[in-house]
Amino acid sequence: EKGKPLMLNPRTNKGMAFTLQERQMLGLQGLLPPKIETQDIQALRFHKNLAKMSDPLEKYIYIMGIQERNEKLFYRVLQDDIERLMPIVYTPTVGLACSQYGHIFRRPKGLFISISDRGHIRSIVDNWPENDVKAVVITDGERILGLGDLGVYGMGIPVGKLCLYTACAGIRPDKCLPVCIDVGTDNLTLLKDPFYMGLYQKRDRSKLYDDLIDEFMEAITDRYGQNTLIQFEDFGNHNAFRFLRKYRERYCTFNDDIQGTAAVALAGMLAAQKVIGKPITEHKVLFLGAGEAALGIANLIVMAMMESGISAEEAYKKIWMFDKYGLLVQSREQKVDTNQEPFTHQPPDQVPKTFVDAVNVLQPSAIIGVAGAGRLFTHDVIKAMGSINERPIIFALSNPTVKAECTAEEAYTLTEGRCLFASGSPFERVVLKDGRSFKPGQGNNAYIFPGGSHTHVPLFSIWCCIALTHQLTNEELAQGRLYPPLSNIRDVSICIAVKVMEFLYANHMAFHYPEPADKSQYIQSKVWSNEYESFMPDVYDWPQSTAKPS
Ligand code: NAP
Ligand code: MN
Repeated sequence: EKGKPLMLNPRTNKGMAFTLQERQMLGLQGLLPPKIETQDIQALRFHKNLAKMSDPLEKYIYIMGIQERNEKLFYRVLQDDIERLMPIVYTPTVGLACSQYGHIFRRPKGLFISISDRGHIRSIVDNWPENDVKAVVITDGERILGLGDLGVYGMGIPVGKLCLYTACAGIRPDKCLPVCIDVGTDNLTLLKDPFYMGLYQKRDRSKLYDDLIDEFMEAITDRYGQNTLIQFEDFGNHNAFRFLRKYRERYCTFNDDIQGTAAVALAGMLAAQKVIGKPITEHKVLFLGAGEAALGIANLIVMAMMESGISAEEAYKKIWMFDKYGLLVQSREQKVDTNQEPFTHQPPDQVPKTFVDAVNVLQPSAIIGVAGAGRLFTHDVIKAMGSINERPIIFALSNPTVKAECTAEEAYTLTEGRCLFASGSPFERVVLKDGRSFKPGQGNNAYIFPGGSHTHVPLFSIWCCIALTHQLTNEELAQGRLYPPLSNIRDVSICIAVKVMEFLYANHMAFHYPEPADKSQYIQSKVWSNEYESFMPDVYDWPQSTAKPS
């Protein structure tokens, strides 16, 4: 490519950073202002402009606009300040962006496949301009964060997740493919929205939907190979479990809401357990919510408890769930599904009606909120946890921030700073009246999926969370930090990838041979750099003496 198209392609565009020689060689001279600029100056311009904005949606539009124009610069600025920018590209702002996706639309990102395209998916996949895709994130938009059915507006989620693959783990952006499946939406507001971007029809829940997903899985692996990772994201509960079960043996697939969340929550539990000094097997956990996230976390906690020596049966007994209809107990009127059965116990003598009753009756050491239904860890709930436990574990994991079960401030204030708290979306530092200050950890699967999702072995999740826990210094633990600072997320991701690799080689499950001696270095060597590359051909001279007869 030469000339203007080079500047219009975000993958090759450098803006005013094209050098003089490049401008001359590539037919760009005169198409740019005379100044030759560094990426540092471009980044500075970005940060200055961003600082002038106060509206989160305006910030989202601005930063995603950079991705549309200059991809290297986008990742550069993202990495400069991941802690401040992640909440824009990802939760909570991405939730706001999704809910208005058609209103803020500039240029399309990712691949859209609709139910009307059945029978033609392979040719749609062929339209994707990249030949080597390694990671696909796919949603059908039915349960976007805790916001419910957003139909095709859900595309913001795969786009945002894949930005983190690159920003947090250095995966090449051209190897990442965001996909949105459109089988309609049951969101009536969207069906009346003139800016909606999908089919104006109710969700197809027939066999056609299953056929569509089957055809998609085949088309992707047919073009990109069987080892392409296909990450399912924000599907409705029923489909998430069904597809995980259906595809896990046949494809390299991963459900982030079930498996990624599980790893990050268990990592938080293990870190908390280090602080409290009580083994995982002695904890009793009460979940608010009994869906994808809750069941994923609960099953992984069971595995961790079994690794520590107790039976599955004993482990299940230590985990309780409370959903929309109350505590999951045997013989309750509302049915429980098969995934929930192991966590459905003999009712206590008086069956609690409310969540705070459940806390008082069951006396859990940890409560984990994954209901996506807002502030249900009321002041009474938090206070009860504080009086039952010296160091209560309180995780409010629902996203975005408005859906969190409680705020960090509530959790720390109402337990006099004794609780071990984590939230799915970020909260600011909390300073108590006595001056003690706490920086809440972000219990978000962003710590997990970028680093090590190249496999679907179940133990992978355990390795991820051990790697995550090991990143914490004793000092950080003493301050109640349950996760490493986000500013370290690149190191965390590499560390996770190394752990997973070690596990795969030790168990003869790796495909890449010979085994790299230094795995950390091997992974670092694969990491994509956001520095501009030169477009100049390799120009050099030959020695004069060899150019003529002697
Ligand atoms: P899901 O499969 O739909 O499960 C939601 C569960 O919450 C269901 O069991 C539901 O019960 C229950 N529920 C709904 N309203 C309730 C209420 N008022 N009281 C008690 N329980 C209620 O969804 P999910 O995938 O688990 O996600 C749930 C939340 O977790 C979302 O907000 C999501 O953003 C968050 N999440 C966070 C992370 C992270 O990394 N931090 C990762 C994944 C998900 P019914 O089935 O009876 O409706
Ligand atoms: Mn998700």
